[in-house]
Formats: sequence, structure tokens, C-alpha cells
Amino acid sequence: MSLELINVWYVVAAGLFIYGLKQLGSPATAVRGNLLSSVGMLIAVVATLFSQQILEFQWILAAAIVGALIGAVAAQRVAMTGMPEMVALFNGSGGIASLLVGWAALYNIGNTTFTNITILLSVLIGGVTFSGSIVAWGKLSEIMASRAIVFGAQRVVNALILITLVACGVLFCLEPAIDSPYLYAVIGLSLLFGVMAVIPIGGADMPVVISLLNAYSGLAACAAGFAINNNILIVAGSLVGAAGMILTNIMCKAMNRSLANVLFSGFGAVKTATKIEGEVKPINTEDAYLILEAAASVTFVPGYGMAVAQAQHVVRELGELLEKNGADVTYAIHPVAGRMPGHMNVLLAEANVPYDQLVEMDDINPRIDNIDVAVVIGANDVVNPAAREDENSPIYGMPIINVDHARTVFVLKRTMASGFSGVDNPLFFGENTRMLFGDAKESISGVISQFKG
Ligand code: NDP
Repeated sequence: MSLELINVWYVVAAGLFIYGLKQLGSPATAVRGNLLSSVGMLIAVVATLFSQQILEFQWILAAAIVGALIGAVAAQRVAMTGMPEMVALFNGSGGIASLLVGWAALYNIGNTTFTNITILLSVLIGGVTFSGSIVAWGKLSEIMASRAIVFGAQRVVNALILITLVACGVLFCLEPAIDSPYLYAVIGLSLLFGVMAVIPIGGADMPVVISLLNAYSGLAACAAGFAINNNILIVAGSLVGAAGMILTNIMCKAMNRSLANVLFSGFGAVKTATKIEGEVKPINTEDAYLILEAAASVTFVPGYGMAVAQAQHVVRELGELLEKNGADVTYAIHPVAGRMPGHMNVLLAEANVPYDQLVEMDDINPRIDNIDVAVVIGANDVVNPAAREDENSPIYGMPIINVDHARTVFVLKRTMASGFSGVDNPLFFGENTRMLFGDAKESISGVISQFKG
């Protein structure tokens, strides 16, 4: 295939990526958007295989088969609760792939200075993305402590790593070679920098780092695209990079923090929340049913525990029963609920909850005082009033769904344990709060049986 024709197919693929991304903006069209973008990627890969520069196909074929097998088995096996960790690993895979592509581009003869700089960037950003994503994966899967890890001279150490990294990068560009010691130094230092950049971020700040690593993986791919002069890799990388930066911005706004504050302050590193005192009032499914049965308005507030319990289907069933009973039913979604951006939307869409019943935090809060019952399903940090009231709390300033302002609050969880950020929650001791202890799916099923009973 001629280069012109390959580029025509690349334009088709790029068009599909952009149109697909646009469709991802609404749950109603997201599945189609995903499919269209995947077709775009298939076209891009096939067109690239017609490139004249490919000398032999057996390694490509072997890698494609091994990769496809690993991907298919991993995607089949991953539990819905393991998706965030999988996304972190995807970001990391993108990073290491860009590092290797950039490195391999040094085999090309007659690279310009510009190409050498893009090679350096793809190795550097790819390395940071890879090791940073592995640390993020460790924190999300709780193989590592999810809290921020901070130590005395951290900023000085990080600054020294960065300065040495830049110096080695410049020295490499002056005399680029596939076995340049400066290149090895750049690889080692960028891997180290990725670890050092992510360990001080933890707790409730993790959504920001996940979306930022996603953006980095795109930027690394974009640099790799320049390094091997592949137009569609440049386009796809820029799209991922830009989308990731927009998402990072949204996540920062959701936490009411600046990016610099998230990256450099260390979540909750110095603060200790005020001790909570009060009485916890448990409730059983029978009494919960009686209150729900009399309610004119109910809002469900899902969180990570709904994903663990896989309670989304029974929640939708209870929602339908309440509607039939005459109640106004909504689902209030916090932007960082769960363990990945859009986590709750995905689960509720899977259970066929009508999209028009999904309400964002900024829309539910002004009218929450008039809601009879707020049912918190495995959410904790995103409904913690300490974020609003306790200046000493590590999550102080993070906007929350003000469920404590509803007339009655049911909190469905198994124990009194804290959420991902490790911060205690005064909501559980609230005057109008009733704790419905147990697995969320079992508790909701219990209420449903009362309704049907
Ligand atoms: P939290 O992690 O704060 O709380 C989840 C709660 O679910 C726990 O307190 C747990 O309590 C309960 N739970 C677990 N299993 C079950 C079950 N089977 N049945 C009932 N309850 C259960 O979740 P939120 O969604 O409120 O907050 C998300 C947190 O994660 C925030 O801190 C956010 O910053 C962070 N985060 C978000 C990411 C994102 O992109 N959205 C990414 C990374 C982190 P118990 O054990 O007592 O049952």
C-alpha cells in the first residue's frame, strides 16, 4: 500500500477515534462510541501493517497472539471491583510500550535532533508512566498501603533526580546511541522518578493520579509517534493525553484541590481529624422498609461498597418498587465515588437504571434537604461531613454529597470501618442516621422481600 493510501486510512481511523470519543460523553451512546473507536484502532493497526518499513511479520504475529491471549483472559477474569487496577495496568503497559518503541527507534539511521528529542521524551515519559502506574496499581489493590508515603527530604531528593534526569537527557541527545550510558541512566532515573512521584499521593487523592497517569501514557505514545514518524500514533497519543488532562482537571475540581497541591502536599500527611463521639443507631431491614414505604422521595448514593457487593441490580429493583409505591427516586453520583472515574455510572448503566434518574452532586445538594430518605450504599468518603466541617480532617475541603441534610439517612455497610482515605466518618453518629449493617446486596434484598412480602 502506498504511503498516501496508508495516510488516508489513518485519517479515517482518526475520524472514528474523535467521533467515538464524542459518543462516550453520554451513557446512552457510550457503547457505540467504544465500538466505533475500536474499529478505528483496527483500521489503524491493519493500515500500519502495510507499511513498507516492516521487513518481517513473524515477531509481530507472535506478539499479537500472546498479547491478545493475555488481554482476553485478563478481561474475562477481572472482577468488576478489579477494573480500576486493570486500568492502572493498562496505563503502565502503554508507558512501557512507548519506552520500548522510542528505544528501538534508535536503530533508525540518520535520525534528526528533533527525532532524538522525541525518542528521549518517549523513553522518559514512558518510564515514569510505567513505574508510576505499577505503584498506583499496588495502592489500589492494597498490596501496598494506600496512604501517602512521605519522608523528610522528599522534595529535595525528587528535585535531584529530576535535575540528573534532565542532564542525562541532554547528554544523550548530544551523542545519541542505542547503548549510550546516558540513555540507560535516563531509563533508570525515569523509572525511579515514577515511583517517587506517586508514593506521596494517596488516600482520597488517588483518582487524580490515575487520570494523570492516563494522560502521561497518551503523551508518551504521542512522543513515540514522532520518534517513529507514525501519524496515527501521534493523533491517538494526543487524544489520550488531552482527554486525560481534561479528566485530571475534573478530578481536581471534584476534590476542590489544585493539581500542584495534590502532587506535592501528601494526602493527610500531617493532619489528624477531630475525634468523633456519639451514638450509633442500627436499624434492621423490617424497620428500614417501613420508613422507605412511607417516603415520598428517596435518593440512592452509591459508592465503592456497591461495586464490592455487586448490589446494582437489586438497587435498581428497589428503585422500581419505590417508584411504583409513588416515591420520587434519584441516584446521586459523586465524581470520585468508587475506584475509577465513572465507576458508579458504569455499574448503574449495567443494571439498566434510567439515565434521567442519575443526578450529579451539584444538582442533588441544593435540594437534598427536601429528600425523605438518602440511602447510602457502600459509600463512605464521598458522604463524609468532616470534609465540610472539620478543618483538621485530611479530606477537609473536598465537596461531598450532603446526605446528612436529608430527613433520614440509611448507611448500608458491613462494619464501622473507614473508607479508602482511612478517615473516620461522623455521619454514622448523626441524629438522623440509621446504620443498616451487612453486605449491601443482602440488606437491599431483605428490604425488597419486605416490599413483596
Ligand atoms: P469508600 O472507599 O470511601 O468506602 C467504601 C465503603 O464500602 C467502605 O467503608 C466499606 O465499609 C463499604 N463496603 C465494602 N464492601 C461492602 C459490601 N459488600 N456491602 C456494603 N458495604 C461495603 O468509597 P466511596 O465510593 O465513598 O469513596 C471513594 C474513595 O476512593 C474516595 O476516597 C476516592 O478519592 C477514592 N478513589 C477513587 C477513585 C476514582 O477514580 N473514583 C480512584 C482511587 C481512589 P465496610 O467495610 O464496613 O463494609
